[in-house]
Amino acid sequence: MSNTPGNLYIVAAPSGAGKSSLIKAFLENHADERHPVQVSVSHTTRNPRPGEQDGKHYHFVSTETFKQLIEEEAFFEWAQAFDNYYGTAKRNITETLQHGVDVFLDIEWQGARQVKALLPDTKTIFIAPPSREELRNRLKARGQDSDEVIEKRMAKAVSEISHYSEFDYIIVNDEFEVALAELEAIVCANRLRKEKQVIRYEDLFSSLLDENS
Ligand code: ADP
Repeated sequence: MSNTPGNLYIVAAPSGAGKSSLIKAFLENHADERHPVQVSVSHTTRNPRPGEQDGKHYHFVSTETFKQLIEEEAFFEWAQAFDNYYGTAKRNITETLQHGVDVFLDIEWQGARQVKALLPDTKTIFIAPPSREELRNRLKARGQDSDEVIEKRMAKAVSEISHYSEFDYIIVNDEFEVALAELEAIVCANRLRKEKQVIRYEDLFSSLLDENS
């Protein structure tokens, strides 16, 4: 997979660390056609929530179809959460990377391990909150969860954070604009890696080296 011009990124974080906000801001800043970036759309068997669109938020499929896709080894990684399945299909991602588009995968550390085993060139990024207190504040500020759910998320955060050293990059999301600039720096530096640039600029280098042209 290192022979695709696009880079694959896994971005993981405990809930409330600011991953969704960072990815959203990153994509808004990157409406740049020369350096396109996409977030991978996962498959799921759960029902769409109001406002969710098939193909945009998720590919919504039946459990039967999902199991068929597992059989066909169509996923880089998949997981079962409660009664629902979630997975990352291979095909769309491979094609997108071959077109020179960088792809973000929004998955947890278990999925990160599975993808990295199959695609060792994948870069993994961990987003950490600046403190436990601030993580709790952000979960409260989001206004989405009851106190009980927030305490469950805080407990789950410890198990997510315990894997921090398995990641290639770590961003501490204290000041949002700083964290965003750091995410942009990671993506920019990886885009400039020789392995990627020789593919992207194959024609340029052959003409630069052609003394007769
Ligand atoms: P996640 O996707 O990691 O669960 P969100 O992106 O939903 O987290 O962020 C959780 C809350 O914290 C949101 O209300 C968001 O606006 C806020 N937030 C995110 N990053 C920061 C930051 N650097 N400083 C202050 N608040 C932040």
